[in-house]
Amino acid sequence: MYIVKTVKEAKEITRKWAAEGLSIGLVPTMGYLHEGHLSLIKESAKDNDKTCVSIFVNPIQFGKNEDFGSYPRDIEYDTALCEKSGADLVFCPAAEEMYPDGFCSHIEISGPAEGLCGARRPGHFNGVCTVVMKLFNIINPSRAYFGRKDAQQLAVICQMVKDYNMDVKIIGMPIVREADGLAKSSRNTYLSSEERKAALCLSRALRTVKSLFDSGERNPDILKQTAKKIIKDELLSRIDYIEIVDIITMKPINEIKSDALCALAVYIGRTRLIDNIALEVKS
Ligand code: AMP
Repeated sequence: MYIVKTVKEAKEITRKWAAEGLSIGLVPTMGYLHEGHLSLIKESAKDNDKTCVSIFVNPIQFGKNEDFGSYPRDIEYDTALCEKSGADLVFCPAAEEMYPDGFCSHIEISGPAEGLCGARRPGHFNGVCTVVMKLFNIINPSRAYFGRKDAQQLAVICQMVKDYNMDVKIIGMPIVREADGLAKSSRNTYLSSEERKAALCLSRALRTVKSLFDSGERNPDILKQTAKKIIKDELLSRIDYIEIVDIITMKPINEIKSDALCALAVYIGRTRLIDNIALEVKS
Protein backbone atom coordinates (compact mmCIF):
# COMPACT_ATOMS: atom_id res chain seq x y z
CA MET A 1 0.00 0.00 0.00
CA TYR A 2 1.30 3.45 -0.94
CA ILE A 3 1.28 6.21 1.67
CA VAL A 4 1.71 9.58 -0.02
CA LYS A 5 1.63 13.15 1.20
CA THR A 6 1.87 15.17 -2.00
CA VAL A 7 -0.67 15.88 -4.70
CA LYS A 8 1.99 15.10 -7.30
CA GLU A 9 2.59 11.54 -6.02
CA ALA A 10 -1.13 10.83 -5.58
CA LYS A 11 -1.81 12.01 -9.14
CA GLU A 12 1.08 10.04 -10.64
CA ILE A 13 -0.02 6.75 -9.05
CA THR A 14 -3.74 7.13 -9.74
CA ARG A 15 -3.20 8.33 -13.35
CA LYS A 16 -1.00 5.27 -13.97
CA TRP A 17 -3.79 3.02 -12.64
CA ALA A 18 -6.34 4.78 -14.83
CA ALA A 19 -4.08 4.37 -17.89
CA GLU A 20 -4.02 0.62 -17.16
CA GLY A 21 -7.83 0.65 -17.26
CA LEU A 22 -8.23 0.05 -13.52
CA SER A 23 -11.26 1.38 -11.64
CA ILE A 24 -10.54 3.54 -8.59
CA GLY A 25 -12.64 3.98 -5.44
CA LEU A 26 -12.10 6.90 -3.06
CA VAL A 27 -12.99 7.06 0.63
CA PRO A 28 -12.53 10.61 1.98
CA THR A 29 -11.98 10.71 5.78
CA MET A 30 -10.60 12.90 8.52
CA GLY A 31 -8.88 9.90 10.09
CA TYR A 32 -9.00 8.38 13.57
CA LEU A 33 -10.64 5.50 11.80
CA HIS A 34 -13.30 3.21 13.22
CA GLU A 35 -15.55 0.51 11.80
CA GLY A 36 -17.78 3.08 10.13
CA HIS A 37 -14.86 4.22 7.98
CA LEU A 38 -13.66 0.65 7.48
CA SER A 39 -17.06 -0.42 6.10
CA LEU A 40 -16.60 2.21 3.36
CA ILE A 41 -13.04 1.07 2.59
CA LYS A 42 -14.08 -2.59 2.42
CA GLU A 43 -17.00 -1.80 0.13
CA SER A 44 -14.72 0.19 -2.16
CA ALA A 45 -12.19 -2.66 -2.22
CA LYS A 46 -15.02 -5.00 -3.31
CA ASP A 47 -16.29 -2.69 -6.06
CA ASN A 48 -13.03 -1.34 -7.51
CA ASP A 49 -9.62 -2.53 -8.70
CA LYS A 50 -7.89 0.08 -6.52
CA THR A 51 -9.01 1.85 -3.36
CA CYS A 52 -7.67 5.20 -2.13
CA VAL A 53 -8.35 6.58 1.34
CA SER A 54 -7.72 10.24 2.06
CA ILE A 55 -6.93 11.21 5.64
CA PHE A 56 -7.09 14.94 6.06
CA VAL A 57 -8.52 17.05 8.87
CA ASN A 58 -9.78 19.80 6.62
CA PRO A 59 -9.26 23.17 8.36
CA ILE A 60 -11.70 25.08 6.14
CA GLN A 61 -14.73 23.03 7.19
CA PHE A 62 -14.31 23.93 10.88
CA GLY A 63 -15.70 27.10 12.44
CA LYS A 64 -13.55 29.37 14.62
CA ASN A 65 -14.75 27.90 17.93
CA GLU A 66 -14.95 24.30 16.76
CA ASP A 67 -12.63 21.37 17.45
CA PHE A 68 -10.10 21.59 14.59
CA GLY A 69 -7.17 21.82 17.04
CA SER A 70 -8.30 18.97 19.27
CA TYR A 71 -9.68 16.64 16.58
CA PRO A 72 -8.15 13.18 17.32
CA ARG A 73 -5.31 12.08 15.05
CA ASP A 74 -3.31 8.83 14.81
CA ILE A 75 -1.90 8.40 11.33
CA GLU A 76 0.13 5.23 12.04
CA TYR A 77 -2.83 3.35 13.49
CA ASP A 78 -5.02 4.63 10.62
CA THR A 79 -2.68 3.54 7.84
CA ALA A 80 -2.41 0.04 9.39
CA LEU A 81 -6.22 -0.22 9.43
CA CYS A 82 -6.44 1.01 5.84
CA GLU A 83 -4.03 -1.68 4.69
CA LYS A 84 -5.92 -4.41 6.59
CA SER A 85 -9.20 -3.27 5.07
CA GLY A 86 -7.95 -3.47 1.49
CA ALA A 87 -6.76 0.04 0.64
CA ASP A 88 -4.06 0.45 -2.02
CA LEU A 89 -3.18 4.09 -1.37
CA VAL A 90 -3.49 6.46 1.58
CA PHE A 91 -3.30 10.14 0.74
CA CYS A 92 -2.51 12.14 3.88
CA PRO A 93 -1.44 15.65 2.86
CA ALA A 94 -0.50 18.51 5.17
CA ALA A 95 -2.79 21.54 5.18
CA GLU A 96 -0.17 23.55 3.21
CA GLU A 97 -0.17 20.90 0.49
CA MET A 98 -3.94 21.25 -0.01
CA TYR A 99 -4.10 25.00 0.59
CA PRO A 100 -0.75 26.50 -0.45
CA ASP A 101 -0.13 30.24 -0.25
CA GLY A 102 -2.30 31.98 -2.80
CA PHE A 103 -5.12 29.41 -2.73
CA CYS A 104 -8.28 31.42 -3.39
CA SER A 105 -11.05 29.29 -4.96
CA HIS A 106 -14.01 27.96 -3.02
CA ILE A 107 -17.14 26.04 -3.82
CA GLU A 108 -20.28 27.75 -2.53
CA ILE A 109 -23.30 25.51 -2.17
CA SER A 110 -26.86 26.25 -1.06
CA GLY A 111 -29.92 23.93 -1.48
CA PRO A 112 -29.40 20.85 0.70
CA ALA A 113 -26.56 22.63 2.55
CA GLU A 114 -28.83 25.35 3.97
CA GLY A 115 -30.61 23.76 6.95
CA LEU A 116 -29.57 21.40 9.77
CA CYS A 117 -25.77 21.44 10.26
CA GLY A 118 -25.41 24.00 7.44
CA ALA A 119 -27.45 26.53 9.42
CA ARG A 120 -25.55 25.88 12.67
CA ARG A 121 -22.08 25.67 11.13
CA PRO A 122 -21.85 28.54 8.60
CA GLY A 123 -19.41 27.76 5.78
CA HIS A 124 -19.05 24.12 6.84
CA PHE A 125 -20.41 22.58 3.65
CA ASN A 126 -18.56 25.07 1.45
CA GLY A 127 -15.39 23.76 3.12
CA VAL A 128 -16.48 20.14 2.67
CA CYS A 129 -17.33 20.64 -1.02
CA THR A 130 -14.08 22.49 -1.71
CA VAL A 131 -11.94 19.71 -0.26
CA VAL A 132 -14.00 16.93 -1.85
CA MET A 133 -13.80 18.64 -5.25
CA LYS A 134 -10.01 18.84 -4.83
CA LEU A 135 -9.80 15.17 -3.79
CA PHE A 136 -11.91 14.14 -6.78
CA ASN A 137 -9.60 16.09 -9.11
CA ILE A 138 -6.46 14.62 -7.51
CA ILE A 139 -7.59 10.96 -7.39
CA ASN A 140 -10.10 10.99 -10.27
CA PRO A 141 -12.14 8.12 -8.79
CA SER A 142 -14.84 6.14 -10.62
CA ARG A 143 -16.71 5.81 -7.31
CA ALA A 144 -16.58 7.65 -3.99
CA TYR A 145 -17.97 6.33 -0.70
CA PHE A 146 -19.72 8.38 1.98
CA GLY A 147 -21.51 7.29 5.17
CA ARG A 148 -25.18 7.99 5.81
CA LYS A 149 -24.12 8.95 9.34
CA ASP A 150 -23.46 12.34 7.69
CA ALA A 151 -26.66 12.25 5.64
CA GLN A 152 -26.66 15.97 4.87
CA GLN A 153 -23.05 15.79 3.69
CA LEU A 154 -24.03 12.91 1.39
CA ALA A 155 -26.95 14.94 -0.04
CA VAL A 156 -24.69 17.97 -0.51
CA ILE A 157 -22.01 15.97 -2.33
CA CYS A 158 -24.64 14.35 -4.59
CA GLN A 159 -25.93 17.84 -5.44
CA MET A 160 -22.43 19.13 -6.20
CA VAL A 161 -21.64 16.13 -8.44
CA LYS A 162 -24.92 16.67 -10.30
CA ASP A 163 -24.48 20.45 -10.61
CA TYR A 164 -20.90 20.17 -11.90
CA ASN A 165 -21.64 17.20 -14.21
CA MET A 166 -18.91 15.18 -12.54
CA ASP A 167 -18.33 11.58 -13.63
CA VAL A 168 -17.81 10.07 -10.18
CA LYS A 169 -20.55 7.78 -8.82
CA ILE A 170 -21.44 8.54 -5.21
CA ILE A 171 -22.18 5.53 -3.00
CA GLY A 172 -24.01 6.07 0.32
CA MET A 173 -23.27 3.49 3.02
CA PRO A 174 -25.30 2.48 6.11
CA ILE A 175 -24.56 3.88 9.57
CA VAL A 176 -22.33 1.58 11.64
CA ARG A 177 -23.27 1.58 15.34
CA GLU A 178 -21.82 0.31 18.58
CA ALA A 179 -23.61 -2.75 20.03
CA ASP A 180 -25.70 -0.46 22.28
CA GLY A 181 -26.84 1.76 19.40
CA LEU A 182 -24.47 4.76 19.56
CA ALA A 183 -23.39 5.72 16.04
CA LYS A 184 -19.64 5.25 15.68
CA SER A 185 -17.81 8.55 15.45
CA SER A 186 -14.25 9.77 15.92
CA ARG A 187 -15.75 12.38 18.27
CA ASN A 188 -17.06 9.67 20.66
CA THR A 189 -13.54 9.67 22.13
CA TYR A 190 -14.32 13.10 23.66
CA LEU A 191 -17.01 11.53 25.89
CA SER A 192 -16.42 10.68 29.57
CA SER A 193 -17.90 7.37 30.71
CA GLU A 194 -20.92 9.18 32.14
CA GLU A 195 -21.40 11.12 28.90
CA ARG A 196 -20.94 7.91 26.89
CA LYS A 197 -24.00 6.47 28.68
CA ALA A 198 -25.94 9.70 28.24
CA ALA A 199 -25.16 9.72 24.50
CA LEU A 200 -27.43 6.72 24.07
CA CYS A 201 -30.40 9.11 24.16
CA LEU A 202 -29.73 10.00 20.49
CA SER A 203 -30.19 6.49 19.11
CA ARG A 204 -32.96 5.77 21.63
CA ALA A 205 -34.90 8.81 20.39
CA LEU A 206 -34.38 7.85 16.75
CA ARG A 207 -35.45 4.25 17.30
CA THR A 208 -38.63 5.45 19.01
CA VAL A 209 -39.36 7.86 16.13
CA LYS A 210 -38.88 5.01 13.65
CA SER A 211 -41.21 2.64 15.48
CA LEU A 212 -43.90 5.35 15.70
CA PHE A 213 -43.42 6.01 11.98
CA ASP A 214 -43.63 2.26 11.25
CA SER A 215 -46.91 2.12 13.13
CA GLY A 216 -48.33 4.78 10.80
CA GLU A 217 -47.51 8.19 12.34
CA ARG A 218 -46.82 10.68 9.51
CA ASN A 219 -46.97 13.98 11.38
CA PRO A 220 -43.42 15.39 11.72
CA ASP A 221 -44.40 17.54 14.74
CA ILE A 222 -45.50 14.50 16.74
CA LEU A 223 -42.38 12.57 15.74
CA LYS A 224 -40.12 15.52 16.64
CA GLN A 225 -41.85 16.08 20.01
CA THR A 226 -41.36 12.40 20.84
CA ALA A 227 -37.62 12.60 20.10
CA LYS A 228 -37.33 15.91 21.97
CA LYS A 229 -38.86 14.49 25.13
CA ILE A 230 -36.53 11.47 25.18
CA ILE A 231 -33.46 13.65 24.73
CA LYS A 232 -34.55 16.32 27.22
CA ASP A 233 -35.03 13.60 29.86
CA GLU A 234 -31.27 13.05 29.67
CA LEU A 235 -29.70 15.65 31.98
CA LEU A 236 -26.33 15.94 30.20
CA SER A 237 -27.95 16.67 26.82
CA ARG A 238 -28.65 19.94 25.03
CA ILE A 239 -30.53 19.82 21.73
CA ASP A 240 -28.98 21.71 18.82
CA TYR A 241 -31.67 20.59 16.36
CA ILE A 242 -34.19 17.85 15.68
CA GLU A 243 -35.74 17.95 12.21
CA ILE A 244 -37.75 15.80 9.84
CA VAL A 245 -36.54 16.56 6.31
CA ASP A 246 -36.89 15.27 2.78
CA ILE A 247 -34.08 12.77 2.25
CA ILE A 248 -32.81 14.44 -0.95
CA THR A 249 -33.49 18.17 -0.54
CA MET A 250 -32.84 18.17 3.23
CA LYS A 251 -35.73 20.66 3.60
CA PRO A 252 -38.22 20.34 6.49
CA ILE A 253 -41.56 18.80 5.52
CA ASN A 254 -45.11 19.21 6.88
CA GLU A 255 -46.23 15.67 6.19
CA ILE A 256 -44.25 12.55 5.36
CA LYS A 257 -45.41 11.46 1.90
CA SER A 258 -42.07 10.34 0.48
CA ASP A 259 -38.79 9.13 1.95
CA ALA A 260 -37.69 11.34 4.83
CA LEU A 261 -35.03 11.55 7.46
CA CYS A 262 -35.21 12.30 11.14
CA ALA A 263 -31.92 14.09 11.79
CA LEU A 264 -30.60 15.46 15.04
CA ALA A 265 -27.61 17.19 16.57
CA VAL A 266 -27.26 17.08 20.34
CA TYR A 267 -24.58 18.30 22.73
CA ILE A 268 -23.61 15.76 25.36
CA GLY A 269 -21.61 17.90 27.74
CA ARG A 270 -19.35 19.87 25.37
CA THR A 271 -19.39 17.27 22.59
CA ARG A 272 -21.71 17.80 19.65
CA LEU A 273 -22.98 14.51 18.22
CA ILE A 274 -25.12 13.97 15.12
CA ASP A 275 -27.25 11.00 14.14
CA ASN A 276 -30.23 10.23 11.93
CA ILE A 277 -32.65 7.57 10.82
CA ALA A 278 -34.35 7.07 7.46
CA LEU A 279 -38.17 7.06 7.39
CA GLU A 280 -38.90 5.22 4.18
CA VAL A 281 -42.35 5.32 2.62
CA LYS A 282 -43.12 1.99 0.97
CA SER A 283 -44.97 2.41 -2.31
P1 AMP B 1 -15.13 11.61 8.91
O1 AMP B 1 -13.77 11.02 9.13
O2 AMP B 1 -15.91 11.77 10.16
O3 AMP B 1 -15.11 12.82 8.04
O4 AMP B 1 -15.95 10.52 8.09
C1 AMP B 1 -15.47 10.02 6.87
C2 AMP B 1 -16.56 9.22 6.21
O5 AMP B 1 -16.92 8.13 7.06
C3 AMP B 1 -17.84 10.03 5.97
O6 AMP B 1 -18.39 9.70 4.72
C4 AMP B 1 -18.72 9.59 7.10
O7 AMP B 1 -20.10 9.69 6.82
C5 AMP B 1 -18.33 8.14 7.24
N1 AMP B 1 -18.69 7.65 8.58
C6 AMP B 1 -18.34 8.20 9.76
N2 AMP B 1 -18.91 7.52 10.78
C7 AMP B 1 -19.66 6.55 10.22
C8 AMP B 1 -20.50 5.51 10.73
N3 AMP B 1 -20.71 5.37 12.02
N4 AMP B 1 -21.11 4.68 9.85
C9 AMP B 1 -20.90 4.82 8.52
N5 AMP B 1 -20.13 5.78 7.97
C10 AMP B 1 -19.51 6.62 8.80
